[in-house]
This record gives sequence, structure tokens and C-alpha cells, in this order.
Amino acid sequence: MLGLAIGFAWPPVHTWYFQWYLSGKATQLADDHRARVHCNTLFDTMLDPEMLASGHANPKTGRIVLQKPWCDTLMAYLRHPSRASHEELDSLDMFTHESMHIRGELNEARTECQAVQRNFRTAMLLGVSEGTARRNALEIFNINYQQRGAIGGMQAAYYSSECAPGGAMDEHLADSTWASP
Ligand SMILES: [Zn+2]
Repeated sequence: MLGLAIGFAWPPVHTWYFQWYLSGKATQLADDHRARVHCNTLFDTMLDPEMLASGHANPKTGRIVLQKPWCDTLMAYLRHPSRASHEELDSLDMFTHESMHIRGELNEARTECQAVQRNFRTAMLLGVSEGTARRNALEIFNINYQQRGAIGGMQAAYYSSECAPGGAMDEHLADSTWASP
């Protein structure tokens, strides 16, 4: 009985804590624009009018919604960042991306480029060690991001060739993903 009770009670508490934790980190990434992260359950996702998007954010309310199963994917990433899968790296990038919307950017290509430059910062904020955070963030830029450009179609809206070191979209952040450590 006790095992069963804990089995039922633990996941919501865990999700509640993770949402609270991510909300604080998203607020920091959004330069103190207040963010509130919600991890959708499968049921939430079915009722969500934007269920086809893996995540969405509203800068007016600060609300970030991550669809099922992306919070779990991000949690899995944080359990073993040094052997992150392609999809786990996508979850890190998605979290940064939605935080950039809360910061105020709405254009998808600019939002995604701001995220790409900040994935190193995000990984560090989430407690990943510096070397691994750098490697993960660079892999997202070199592989996941470049694939968007190559795939084209809807993905192309999230890509710009100007999003590169020294490119027009380079914000020259001191802790940029592509800054030399
Ligand atoms: Zn977006």
C-alpha cells in the first residue's frame, strides 16, 4: 500500500518541483522577465490548441508550456548530460528558445539564434559542468541547428545563415556558446 501511495504521489510532486525550478532558470535566461513553466501531461497536450508545437510561450503572461514528453526528455538530459542524445539536446535548446520568447522576441529565426548562443549559459544554469555544457551547446549549434537549415520547410523559419560567429545575428555575448573559453 505504501509503495503504491508513493508511486502515485511522487510524480506530481516531482513535476511540480521541476516546473518551479525551470521557472526560476527561465526567468534568469529572459533577463528577469518573469517566466512560469508548465509541463503538460498527455491530457493537457490533447486539450492544447497548440498541441502540434513541442512548446510555446506567451511573453505577455510569462507562461511557457512544454508538451509531453519534453519535460521528461529535459530531465533525462540533466541526469546524464555527458552522454546526451540528439533529442535530449533538442530539449535543452527548446527550453532556451521558449525563454527567449519570454524575454520579448517573437520572430522565430531571431528567437532560435538567441537560444543557440545561450545554450551554454542554460546548461551551466541547470548545473551541467562547464566542459560538458560547452560541448553540448556546440553540438546543438553544429548539428541540430544546421539540420534545420538543411531540412527546410517549416524548420527553415527557425534557421538563418547569419546565426554564426561574426554573423549579423551574433550578439557577442561574453558567455556565448561559440565564445572561446
Ligand atoms: Zn518559438
